[in-house]
Amino acid sequence: MPKAFYGTIRKHAKPLQSVLVKPAGPDCNLGCTYCFYLEKAEMFPENKIHRMSEETLEEMTRQVMSQSEHHVSFGWQGGEPTLMGISFFEKAVSFQQKYGRGHTVGNGFQTNGLLIDKEWAKFLNKYKFLVGLSLDGPEHIHDRYRKQRSGEGSWAKVKDKARLMMDEGVEVNALVVVNDYSVRFPEEIYAFHKSMGLTFQQYIPCLEKDPKDSSKPASFSVPPEQYGEFLCRLFDLWLGDFVDGAPATSIRLFDSLFHSYVGLPPPECTLLKECGVYVVIEHNGDVYACDFFVDPEWKLGNIRDKKIIDMLNSAQQNRFGRIKSTLHSECQKCRWLPLCRGGCPKDRLLSAPSRGLNYFCPSFKAFFSHADERFRWMADEWKRQQAMMSSSPQSNKQPPVGRNDPCPCGSGLKYKKCCGRL
Ligand code: SF4
Ligand code: SF4
Repeated sequence: MPKAFYGTIRKHAKPLQSVLVKPAGPDCNLGCTYCFYLEKAEMFPENKIHRMSEETLEEMTRQVMSQSEHHVSFGWQGGEPTLMGISFFEKAVSFQQKYGRGHTVGNGFQTNGLLIDKEWAKFLNKYKFLVGLSLDGPEHIHDRYRKQRSGEGSWAKVKDKARLMMDEGVEVNALVVVNDYSVRFPEEIYAFHKSMGLTFQQYIPCLEKDPKDSSKPASFSVPPEQYGEFLCRLFDLWLGDFVDGAPATSIRLFDSLFHSYVGLPPPECTLLKECGVYVVIEHNGDVYACDFFVDPEWKLGNIRDKKIIDMLNSAQQNRFGRIKSTLHSECQKCRWLPLCRGGCPKDRLLSAPSRGLNYFCPSFKAFFSHADERFRWMADEWKRQQAMMSSSPQSNKQPPVGRNDPCPCGSGLKYKKCCGRL
């Protein structure tokens, strides 16, 4: 590789702040009914087993560290990243240190938990990986679709792995897919995660195309009206747990919306005006526009031939980003547009008869109508507290933002390690 390849950082419109890496490609040791990524194996037919080589890992890390500024985060995903074994991630950390240039580095790790053992837990804790554990709720909910290859449910194992990690001090967030079945049980799901000590929760609405008729949603997709009701009930549960005006649990969507209400960029990409602020790096070094658009149309290149930062700022990635801001006529006149931004483009592909409108539009409208007044109140209260804090540095009041979220002051640190400690 020529030396100039890593030369001085040119100022780019979009800084390289995070990459999502799939070291084992689409390979997974579970066979969840609703998984959208397993079929991506067809895109990489040259090998049956997909694993990132040490050379690709080093090259990727060297580029990310040299092309980012101050703080960068790696999101390790799949497929299932634990299939790589601990030694791969030990190398990943050592490359981050080798090419670090004094940067602060965050590592997120999304796993189904099955292969986690004490050694893994110790590693994840030692290097402060923030784990997102896929756990849909109590047994009857989780096992509905999260099956092992044998057809057996995975809940009993995953729940034990959650405990094991938390006992070792690992920070674990629950990743909860909301589907046609689980949508009926927001109270049960929320209470279950709380009882497990999983107070950081991210809810992901399930929407996939019916394999037999791609104009229709797959049967396990969550119906939009029910998802709207789910969000309203979840919001009330979250609000009911506030202690002294601050949330006791963190729900990523609500925390992100709070950022929007106080005029800060929301951490959740679905609430941003445009996409294209991060890239996905597959096991073979191929780079794609987004986790949901790992397909040939949105391949930006390969790290062997192009710089990651150039791919992030390429005309193709910018074009991808602008898809989101090309809005349906109903969005253009919608009062919720400044918050909703029309939702994720992947959810706009299936909205017949109103093509181009987000499938979850009815969910958003119901939820915003339900929560808007209270969000406004929280935002006003937070701004009042901020004003008080700036005049009284000793104040220990905390604004209602998730403890594990990026701090609204823009420092790049987690809230609990920044203004949240005031
Ligand atoms: S397409 Fe959806 S998931 Fe991808 S960056 Fe845009 S909003 Fe985010
Ligand atoms: S609520 Fe519906 S109409 Fe309004 S911006 Fe969102 S998707 Fe568009």
